[in-house]
Amino acid sequence: MNLNSPIRELKGVGEQKEKCLQKIGVYSVRDILLHFPYHYVDYPQIQSVSNAVADTLMAIEGTVTSTPFHKKIRGMDMVTATIADGNSNMHLTWFHQPYIKKQLHSGESYIFYGKVRIKNGKISMDQPVIYSFEIYEQLRTSYQPVYHLSKDISNNAFRKLVQQCLPFIDELEELLPEELRVRRHLLAYGEAVYRMHFPKNVSELIEGRKRLVFQEFFRFLLQMQAAKTSLTTTNFKCDSKNKIKDLVHKLPFELTEGQKCALNEILNDMGRDIPMQRLLQGDVGSGKTILAILAMINAYFSGYQSAIMAPTEVLAKQHYATFLQYKQLFGLDYSVYLLTGSMTVKQKAEMKKQIRQDKNCMVVGTHALIQDSVEMPNLGLAITDEQHRFGVKQRENLTGKGIVPHTLVMSATPIPRTLALILYGDLAISTIRSLPSERLPIKNCVVGTGYRNTAYEFIRRQVEIGFQAYVICPLVEESETMDAADVVTYAKHLREYYVDTINVGVLHGKMKSEDKNKVMEDFANNKVQILVSTTVVEVGVNVPNATVMMVENAEQFGLAQLHQLRGRVGRGAAQSYCIFIDGKNNKENKRLDILNHSNDGFYIAEKDLELRGPGDFFGIRQSGEMDFIVADIYKDAEILKSASEEINRLKQSELHFEHEWLQKMVQL
Ligand code: ADP
Ligand code: MG
Repeated sequence: MNLNSPIRELKGVGEQKEKCLQKIGVYSVRDILLHFPYHYVDYPQIQSVSNAVADTLMAIEGTVTSTPFHKKIRGMDMVTATIADGNSNMHLTWFHQPYIKKQLHSGESYIFYGKVRIKNGKISMDQPVIYSFEIYEQLRTSYQPVYHLSKDISNNAFRKLVQQCLPFIDELEELLPEELRVRRHLLAYGEAVYRMHFPKNVSELIEGRKRLVFQEFFRFLLQMQAAKTSLTTTNFKCDSKNKIKDLVHKLPFELTEGQKCALNEILNDMGRDIPMQRLLQGDVGSGKTILAILAMINAYFSGYQSAIMAPTEVLAKQHYATFLQYKQLFGLDYSVYLLTGSMTVKQKAEMKKQIRQDKNCMVVGTHALIQDSVEMPNLGLAITDEQHRFGVKQRENLTGKGIVPHTLVMSATPIPRTLALILYGDLAISTIRSLPSERLPIKNCVVGTGYRNTAYEFIRRQVEIGFQAYVICPLVEESETMDAADVVTYAKHLREYYVDTINVGVLHGKMKSEDKNKVMEDFANNKVQILVSTTVVEVGVNVPNATVMMVENAEQFGLAQLHQLRGRVGRGAAQSYCIFIDGKNNKENKRLDILNHSNDGFYIAEKDLELRGPGDFFGIRQSGEMDFIVADIYKDAEILKSASEEINRLKQSELHFEHEWLQKMVQL
């Protein structure tokens, strides 16, 4: 066996387990070793029942008072038991685990690890994990890794697989030269990987992680360098600046100073015969889309094709509709094609043929589709919306198709300028600082779950005067994390609450595309007034008539993500509101407090960083920021800087990136 051996060769991996692992992208021994924990559990000290604290993860010791009870509720196995210490009792419940009944013996003591609930003085725990004293004490002496897995494979089982693969860790190739590692105090690769899985303490973990983060950043920056050198001149000079200025007068609003400035920079870039490589950064709702449209019209006026790529199908459809609206408003005759994953193979083929032949068209689509298969021989401008979702590779893919077009990437991620200069070092940056002046600042509140009904009544009044609302829940289906409300049940509950006087729609990532499109369309046309959704609406969605954003279990989201979600309202002239429900009813949630007091994405990002601090990797990870696996651009800012310094050092030396290790690193 070696690093590349298929997982099937491991002990305990049969056909079933192989499939489960492949589903999460794990095919080989190497993949197992590089599937890092996302969280570590530092097991708490053992407590007695009388010390139980509500809503806290605890390890509670107790004696089982009688034989556990097993019954079936609507086909679901349920086991209950009671433990006691002195005069306090705690009730335990397990679902889907009938075997627990045999595992627990009346009169014996165990440790129960789980979240404590206290209701009307009754103490209980759902789905606690059971340990013997000895095993629990062993756990307490080390950090326990927790992995992202599919629900068919347990954390424990995966940990055992990692253990089985440990002998192959030395085969992992070390790509960083020793001299660099010494200078930057970085561990050897294998050692770092080992520590990610089995750290003895926090500092071991920090050191291991640092090495991996460095490597990720270093590689990213290296790839960027490699992409940069291949860009030289373009044949697509677009200088219809004056015609664009005329269109600006036809807009129903005046562009903000920031928009005007950015538009100017974009048009100037496009008028040259060096390809534009620009990042347009602007907080949510600052009005980036109209600039993208004007840039694409600029390409159209000059006789070229253009494309805009969005991260989700919902967003692509929305952009398409907007393009058609502006076409009418401007009285222009451009053709726009929409290309999305839900089209049939035949439709796609037909559409691609048309695009290939229509030398002056515009294309709107999801990025995967456009990058993979669309031929645009006359592509003068390529735009990616919500760039923070894509890695550098993807950007390169599109621009790497023959002649180099102008590229514009748009992002609402508020990256501090110093970091942006490193991460987007190959791009010029335009920033839109302020929102359109007609906008009223969003009014925020952070409340506990007891406020729900008040919020529902508030939403009812907003709907009555013609507005709409989003309600965001963290998960799609009921899962082991019992606390998180799921969208499907939630919507059902809301329909009952409003006794069907208000139309409630549901949106989540696992729905079929056509159903997603339908509900988004209905929401955009106000046929649906309340949209209960997962975070699929997080990026880009624009329904200016929506004035309320209510987020359930807000404490489970990252701050940047919550800020994005909030950006779905406050997009029109009406006053908008954001209600963050803290599912933990924590009176002093510092993180949510930041959001409560500021609507400024840059400020929020900075504060978030301060709060989390560099050693905090147990916090909530920002979703999908760039393409990094371990690294986090905010909290690892210092490591990013050091990686960038090393790249500069290389540039100054005579190496010119031809060394074998650099080549390997780029291709990794
Ligand atoms: P984002 O920057 O988040 O992508 P959008 O481009 O979706 O924001 O714009 C949000 C809303 O603001 C849209 O309805 C758009 O028509 C509107 N808008 C854009 N620019 C202005 C402006 N200068 N004044 C008023 N409204 C504007
Ligand atoms: Mg947008």
